[in-house]
Amino acid sequence: MSVDAATPGVIAVVPVRGGELPIGGDEAVAEAGGRALLIGDGTEAAASLLHGVAVELRLCEQPTFAPGAWAAGLVAHVRDEQVVLLPANPDGRDLAPRLAFLLDRPLLAAAVAIDLEGTTMAQQGGRVMETVRVDEPFVATLQPGVRGVERDPSRSCIPAPCALDEPGGDPAPDVQVLEVLPADPATMDLAEAGRIVGGGAGLGSAAAMEQLSRLALAFGASYGATRVVTDWGWAPFERQIGTTGVTVHPQLYLAFGISGAVQHTAGLGDPEHCIAVNTDASCPMMGLADLAVVTDAPALVAELSRRLGVVGDTDSAVGSPLDPPPDSLNAADALVAAHQEHDDV
Ligand SMILES: Cc1cc2nc3c(=O)[nH]c(=O)nc-3n(C[C@H](O)[C@H](O)[C@H](O)COP(=O)(O)OP(=O)(O)OC[C@H]3O[C@@H](n4cnc5c(N)ncnc54)[C@H](O)[C@@H]3O)c2cc1C
Repeated sequence: MSVDAATPGVIAVVPVRGGELPIGGDEAVAEAGGRALLIGDGTEAAASLLHGVAVELRLCEQPTFAPGAWAAGLVAHVRDEQVVLLPANPDGRDLAPRLAFLLDRPLLAAAVAIDLEGTTMAQQGGRVMETVRVDEPFVATLQPGVRGVERDPSRSCIPAPCALDEPGGDPAPDVQVLEVLPADPATMDLAEAGRIVGGGAGLGSAAAMEQLSRLALAFGASYGATRVVTDWGWAPFERQIGTTGVTVHPQLYLAFGISGAVQHTAGLGDPEHCIAVNTDASCPMMGLADLAVVTDAPALVAELSRRLGVVGDTDSAVGSPLDPPPDSLNAADALVAAHQEHDDV
């Protein structure tokens, strides 16, 4: 349940870097009814990405991420709001507790919905929804990828500049940004991964799934799995994509041995590119794919691993990778060529 667009008292505070909206930023603005304060570098460019969502925008341009100083300077701007909502992405999670502390309010973290009296949180992997009620103003963070955003072209606004207040006294200790490193696909939050290689029951074994997780890194991708795979213990639960797992938003999704059940695809977002590998040409996952490869998934994983030099015990996973079926060889040719040509996808 989101608050009414016309309801005052709720504002989204969205940290911005390099003119880009962070993951979950648009959802936080939508959940706040379209009222938002963007803070960081490139706020004007980020604001242009909120057309159809925002109805009232304030832009606070800041050159460097400094959550301590930002929180101190934002207090006066958000003190009168009943609810201050931030996306539960890394920058939002850094800023939210500092703001809550300085505003002397409770922090309700990782909500999936808010209203003026509290939040709804997903528990037990999404199987149980819990409502948390508070009788005072609060700060909340919104879990990215759950709510989604519907744009209404008639919604627009002219952003207004806003300056951070200079609080008196000693400045709070703050983080110092030394270098911004690209996220490691092996450990990053699946919800934020731009490329995902997913494995399903069609891989046939835990060893093939393990091999797929290493192959994913060669593609610069994170790995995900279906519920069948996580239930069988071939992959940890946090890798499960779907209605009772993680909701993802990759640009590229490669599905190996996945049937495409609605509980899985509902958590897939809207990938720009989707490649499916399956022995059943007519399963739903193949219907969703831009490129549908009809072949044996574990054999193709083994062949791709061999060609891309992925280190691991490939023999024990799927039999001898030196003797794969011919259709796997053709598919491997196509995928390796696509990988080399379009490494920026
Ligand atoms: C309440 C509820 C919540 C659920 N939540 C989720 C969820 O969050 N996420 C989720 O993923 N599922 C979820 N499920 C389960 C979901 O309904 C499906 O059962 C599951 O997604 C199927 O996983 P799968 O595609 O790996 O397996 P299957 O459906 O068994 O598909 C296996 C596929 O592999 C193919 N295959 C077989 N052998 C090969 C081979 N050698 N090479 C290539 N392909 C091969 C088959 O043709 C088939 O398409 C949920 C179900 C319920 C009831």
